[in-house]
Amino acid sequence: LREGLELEGISRSFRVGSREVWAVQDVSLEVGRGETFCLVGESGCGKTTTGRIAAGLIRPTRGTVRFRGDDVWRLSREDFATFRRSVQIIHQNPYASLNPLHSVEHILAIPLQRHHPGLSRREARQRAAELLTMVGLTPPGEFLPKLPHQLSGGQRQRVSIARSMTVEPSVVVADEPVSMVDVSLRAGILKVLERLRDEAGVGFVFITHDLAVARYFGRGGSIGVMYLGRMVEQGPTEEVVARPIHPYTRILLDAVAEPDPARTRTRRRIEPRSMDVPSLLRMPPGCPFHPRCPWYEPGLCDASVPPLRAISGRGSRSASREGPAASGRAVACHRVDESGELPPMAAVAPS
Ligand code: SF4
Repeated sequence: LREGLELEGISRSFRVGSREVWAVQDVSLEVGRGETFCLVGESGCGKTTTGRIAAGLIRPTRGTVRFRGDDVWRLSREDFATFRRSVQIIHQNPYASLNPLHSVEHILAIPLQRHHPGLSRREARQRAAELLTMVGLTPPGEFLPKLPHQLSGGQRQRVSIARSMTVEPSVVVADEPVSMVDVSLRAGILKVLERLRDEAGVGFVFITHDLAVARYFGRGGSIGVMYLGRMVEQGPTEEVVARPIHPYTRILLDAVAEPDPARTRTRRRIEPRSMDVPSLLRMPPGCPFHPRCPWYEPGLCDASVPPLRAISGRGSRSASREGPAASGRAVACHRVDESGELPPMAAVAPS
């Protein structure tokens, strides 16, 4: 992927006491210019760790991160610094990510002058004002002298977005960018990010626990659903949302408000067998979703971890040359057949 970012077979472990705990296992994704890859899942599923690996903040234990075709962990110091500038991260907490003692002008001018060493103070101020206009903080002259505590949560997140744009990144990892912003301000922030993607060609790794947000922001792109550190389903957003295959994705989508009330009345809701989410410290054997899965089959589902494999049927794009996880439709479930079908719910084995 010459212009973009690619994660191939990424795993990352951490030491917890004397144990090695795998936060992310064998995750692959790619994002090019103006594209979106949405990573969704519950908290603790490994999506933030994956995002930090994508941004070069954490080194993977296994697997390769490529930027413009190069393995970033084999780059020279100088080229690695360029990669780090080219892939920016927007954190979920706009309160913690801005220096409380710096004015908005200062927050934007520092990276601007670092990125363009010849820039005068006046020029940096002018560029900062343009960035504020771009993220909808107008008139910019009103916002430049303000300190972070004088801004609302939504305004702070817009300043964070403007700051990430000071270095003209190719890719932005947006880690729950609207989850800590007031509900009434979320649509505005998403619109700003959309403009950066569609007009400036920025690629997005968009991390969210909220499938409704992923469905909106990820349309036209790809989506990956993570559960306990693994990708369980991956594919074009519209296809996954219209026809989820993996039991976990089906349950997640069932929890999102159904726009058509007639369908809600007639459709059978899929409930998990258990509401307890196992932790990474107590990983169940076999399929990590088996303690909660309504399709669980004893002796099959708890015997081995299902690999992420390409699904050939029903209008899905074929797996890419890099393998099923890189594009096309792929699912990690022992009971899904070649064409992407699960057996009927009635055939589910008792737990
Ligand atoms: Fe459910 Fe078994 Fe598929 Fe896991 S492998 S998602 S337990 S049916």
